[in-house]
Amino acid sequence: MQTMTVPIFKGEGKLEYEERPIPRLEEATDVLVKIEACGICGTDLNILATPPAHKATPNIIIGHEGVGMVAEVGAEVSDLQPGDRVVIAPRLTCGRCRYCRRGLDNQCTNYQTIGTTIDGAFAPYLRAPQSALFKISPDVPRDDAVLFEPLSCVVGSVTRAPIQGGDNVVIIGAGPMGLLFAQMYRTLGAGKIIMVDIAPYRLNFAQEIGIDETLNPTEVDLPRAIQDITGLGADIVVDAVGNQMGTALKLARRGGQVILFGLRPHDNPAINQYTITRYDLTIHGTFVGLNPFEQTIQLLESGRLQPSVLITHRVPLSELPQGVDMMRSGQTMKVIVETGGSNQ
Ligand SMILES: [Zn+2]
Ligand SMILES: [Zn+2]
Repeated sequence: MQTMTVPIFKGEGKLEYEERPIPRLEEATDVLVKIEACGICGTDLNILATPPAHKATPNIIIGHEGVGMVAEVGAEVSDLQPGDRVVIAPRLTCGRCRYCRRGLDNQCTNYQTIGTTIDGAFAPYLRAPQSALFKISPDVPRDDAVLFEPLSCVVGSVTRAPIQGGDNVVIIGAGPMGLLFAQMYRTLGAGKIIMVDIAPYRLNFAQEIGIDETLNPTEVDLPRAIQDITGLGADIVVDAVGNQMGTALKLARRGGQVILFGLRPHDNPAINQYTITRYDLTIHGTFVGLNPFEQTIQLLESGRLQPSVLITHRVPLSELPQGVDMMRSGQTMKVIVETGGSNQ
């Protein structure tokens, strides 16, 4: 039996390396993928926090932002063949619950997630059903393709708030997700894009990749600064943090839109409901998107945006814990784990 050395989530913030068999196809619809790289996500940090801020099943391999090459396909897999480059749409929905039947499969009540409830992609090999895999052109650089999953969440989110060419957009939270929003809005023809964060590292990074304006609310009167830059206030405000709705309401122009994207399940910010009513604001709660995957593939294949500019560090699979610490330090943007599955 061939084995692989992989980090196993042991619960309570623990990762331990173990020898595990290389997975084999079980169902006729299964695909074996040789993983090339997998991004470390904020969700992984939440899984590994003590106490955890995101649930995961102990004794699994985590990691859900993977890119790889098909190694083997089951008898009923018709759309993929060995050698195809694939990316992972990690959420496996049931297709049977009432939300799935209404077409709201991002709200499926019986879902499994690759890298959270079942084995994920911080490994040289992953077995996944073909429904979780999307073929992507080998012409897309690996380091752009590895950001497919987080980008798909952004694609799904921006779809909800109609944007007009020239709209000014404020994004609160200049981490990897906030900066993916910025890239996306630039591609969609936004006017000014303004990033807000309290961390100088992140604001500097945003400037380096060409974001129009960056603001630190510990240094400026934020609502006034946004007024000065935009004239009216923001047409669209994105909360990529998860507890910034109160601030977002102050930055939107009358009739503007607010997108809530970040997830902070334990925070309960106070909200001024009057502002929403009086100024005709539209609030969009958005979660992982409703089948944004085909669009995301097209976007990456178009080459119109290069999410790889957000990658600041790379670690080998044997150093996943160090990669997690680097992400936690706040002195990195995206950290990619190279899983060693690309050289065959
Ligand atoms: Zn993720
Ligand atoms: Zn369902």
